[in-house]
Amino acid sequence: MYIVQIASECAPVIKAGGLGDVVYGLSRELELRGNCVELILPKYDCMRYDHVWGMHEAYRDLWVPWYGGGIHCTVYCGWVHGRLCFFIEPHSQDFFFDRRCYYGCDDDNMRFAFFSKAALEFLLQSNKRPDVIHCHDWQTGLIPVMLFEIYKYHGMENQRVCYTIHNFKHQGTGGVETLQATSLNRPDYYFDYDRLRDNFNPFAVNFMKGGIVYSNAVTTVSPHHAWEAHHTDVGCGLSHTLHLHQHKFSGVLNGIDYDFWNPEIDRYIPYHYSQDTFAEKARNKKALRDRLLLQDADKPLIAYIGRLDDQKGVHLVHHALYYALNNGAQFVLLGSATSPKINDHFWHEKRYLNDNPNCHLELGFNEELSHLIYAGADMIIVPSNYEPCGLTQMIGFKYGTVPIVRGVGGLVNTVFDRDYDPTKPPEQRNGFVFEHTNEAAFESAMIRAMKLWYNEPEAFRQLAIQGMEYDYSWNHPTESYLAIYEQIRHK
Ligand code: ADP
Repeated sequence: MYIVQIASECAPVIKAGGLGDVVYGLSRELELRGNCVELILPKYDCMRYDHVWGMHEAYRDLWVPWYGGGIHCTVYCGWVHGRLCFFIEPHSQDFFFDRRCYYGCDDDNMRFAFFSKAALEFLLQSNKRPDVIHCHDWQTGLIPVMLFEIYKYHGMENQRVCYTIHNFKHQGTGGVETLQATSLNRPDYYFDYDRLRDNFNPFAVNFMKGGIVYSNAVTTVSPHHAWEAHHTDVGCGLSHTLHLHQHKFSGVLNGIDYDFWNPEIDRYIPYHYSQDTFAEKARNKKALRDRLLLQDADKPLIAYIGRLDDQKGVHLVHHALYYALNNGAQFVLLGSATSPKINDHFWHEKRYLNDNPNCHLELGFNEELSHLIYAGADMIIVPSNYEPCGLTQMIGFKYGTVPIVRGVGGLVNTVFDRDYDPTKPPEQRNGFVFEHTNEAAFESAMIRAMKLWYNEPEAFRQLAIQGMEYDYSWNHPTESYLAIYEQIRHK
């Protein structure tokens, strides 16, 4: 099958979060199964050019219709760790992708509306006719709209679209100018509630809603999150739209790349190990302590790795830090704050706890250190308010690090409570789960984990190994996506 992925990120060349990992990991696995995969991405000034091999001009003069005129673009082509990527570079006074950032500009909606238009125009003009176009998140929501309203009538009538939503919180909205710019010329038609009109703001079109309405298949990144988005406020106003389109909506759990996240071959950790050589994990714990100047004591080490953001239950992360310290555990935090207020708060904590030999707060993004923490920690916490899929618990499993998580989103599909899970026999359980987003609930899960570590070390080790036995690679998710592609292709 010939598949084109269109997205605003692809790790490691463009990565702001899990989206980049998914776009790369899925593309790689699809190719390993013999499919032809190409990616279309914006050519940002700040992307990691050192991860692109053989960059060259692929299409010099691409004219993209925009506001009745046109913007001249050049399309570059190169390989990102084996994946063939096309990067779109517009030449205009808008400097759409020359902002020293990927997101966060006032005109993000116009930047990505343009990107979507340019990606389709590139496919059209270069005579690329994929079987399936796979779009991701709000940035590409207008692609199926334009494909089926415009490009279908210019020779792209056989293309089908799979649209994956990674985060319902960011949906992308715009006014009538978004429609004018992209040649979606009948505002009354598109401003219909059955099409693009935002479900709450009557003056806005909603890109993500357009993606849901027009795509042939819509997915989100775990089955439980699909249910939540459909039936609870996690859908951020799109539940009704999902309900109307439920026949084509499903959840496919993300995978992780075991070539990168694997304690048997990880180049960032000093001692490699597997289930059979689990004792080696203790040497990584020692190495982590040495690196972070933590005391070498007979204590469990609990970690948090992730964005410091309300979504991630940041108040519970903060609580876990002191709860661990007060109950005989050590705590390591690696996180970057998403707001100045949260940032100031954790810097304050860091200074306050500076001389404490039982904890370390590393504020910022550090890929290499994250690997050593996954390998060295005994437990990892994920107390999220909502979590579409979550990669940290899956990485934790691979490294024999027991997750303590809140039972939401993809965490429900991946973590099974050691003491209470009704769906799995004891020998298949792999972590600790709490339900309510309050301190008491979180404490009850943490104390169960810590007690097991102290009182029944062999049982704790067994639990960690049971987690390592799960397969959260791209193997299963890719099969699911291929089944979806096959299904829509023949419609
Ligand atoms: P998100 O909602 O941020 O996409 P995920 O759990 O899906 O959360 O993915 C987070 C990914 O980013 C994981 O690979 C995690 O290890 C990594 N990560 C998050 N914060 C940091 C950080 N400060 N330093 C290094 N890696 C991080």
